Amino acid sequence: MRELFIPETKNPPAKVKDPGLISLVMEGAGVFNAKSGEIILLPIGVSTLSSIAQDLTEALLEKNGIQNIDCSASDESASSLAERYVREYGEKALAWMAVSGRKLNLWGWAETEEDVKMKTAFAADTIRSIFERYIPDFNYILEVRSGTINSMAGVCPTAKGSLYETEGLVCPECGNYFHGDSAYVHAVKPLNSDQAEKEVTDVHTPGAHTIPLLCEQLGLDPSETLKAMLYTVIMPNEKKTLLFAMIRGDKNISINKLHAYVDSKFKGASFRKAENDEIVSAFGEVAGFCGPVGVPSGVHMVADKSLKGGKNFVVGGNRPDYHRTGCCWGRDFEPEVADLLLFEESTPCPENGRTLASVPLRKICTLDCYSSDMRDEKVLSCRDRDGEHKWPYRWKAEISLEALILSFYEKKDERIKDEIFEEK
Ligand SMILES: [Zn+2]
Repeated sequence: MRELFIPETKNPPAKVKDPGLISLVMEGAGVFNAKSGEIILLPIGVSTLSSIAQDLTEALLEKNGIQNIDCSASDESASSLAERYVREYGEKALAWMAVSGRKLNLWGWAETEEDVKMKTAFAADTIRSIFERYIPDFNYILEVRSGTINSMAGVCPTAKGSLYETEGLVCPECGNYFHGDSAYVHAVKPLNSDQAEKEVTDVHTPGAHTIPLLCEQLGLDPSETLKAMLYTVIMPNEKKTLLFAMIRGDKNISINKLHAYVDSKFKGASFRKAENDEIVSAFGEVAGFCGPVGVPSGVHMVADKSLKGGKNFVVGGNRPDYHRTGCCWGRDFEPEVADLLLFEESTPCPENGRTLASVPLRKICTLDCYSSDMRDEKVLSCRDRDGEHKWPYRWKAEISLEALILSFYEKKDERIKDEIFEEK
């Protein structure tokens, strides 16, 4: 008897909002145990899942040379294989993958930062080429994440309340997805780049301790001002440093991006909002009037990269009720630069300036690359006749096959429509 068991289902599962899960159950591919939250796949679901997983692993072996193993999803197994075989088999032993527990995990090593970025990007391309067959609107979000050189999340739109749902943003024109910590990779025209540098002038701005109040008093657009936030960084040895983080007045700082910056700058440190007495002891009584010109020594400054090269900013005067106009990057202040921008619904699409709309996204996979010392991991190395070789960079990916199959069933109608359209 070789006939597959495909039960006929007349009613959608109760209390389930996920359109992918509803479709999967209605197709007789699986059942949902609401009590345990478990999706139990039936024969047709199992065979769908294994054929998608097979497509993926075959493509990753063929195009990227990633070797299939069967092990627990822990890093140790792949690391021990790499250590054992890399000397003899070189490239062939530098990337592994394993399917376990409805997840496909990938691990790889590289010699240089350039190399690790390239390997991650190639793996992402292969994954995309397979996913696009099953999920027409799949795409990646490039994100800034602590402990990574590059980080990507593979997503597609879904309904609110779906499994693996994450809040996202989408551009109505180009269709690109973003979320709060999306990397800002586009160039920004510096503020007032066509103007001459003005002189720094102190202006009396009584009571204007917020950007809206300041803009009202001086008739400014928030983009001409500078928003400053003060944090206290606590080093592993308990020593504290004030961190002066700034961004254009019409934007906000992403705390996760700031976290990534602090991690890269002060290894092992934590940070929190500065308390008033900490600000007073460095700046004096200036609450609401802090600015980047004349910052006390010992305060560490970082600016969102969109500020770089700007001219004639209006900034806090570092004394109560005063601001300064005509402040220029380079001449008056030149802090370190990092990507700190929080993507919000009001953020214009970096590509075409359209206002982003919020959209629920299903997160299907993640890809990260980093150097071993960013995470205190052992550097892969081996010694042979030619001396010692090191692979101090790593990349990793995790594909949730369960999220993938849910989106597969969610996009079924869309896929069929696409196919009919293409045939015409
Ligand atoms: Zn766009």
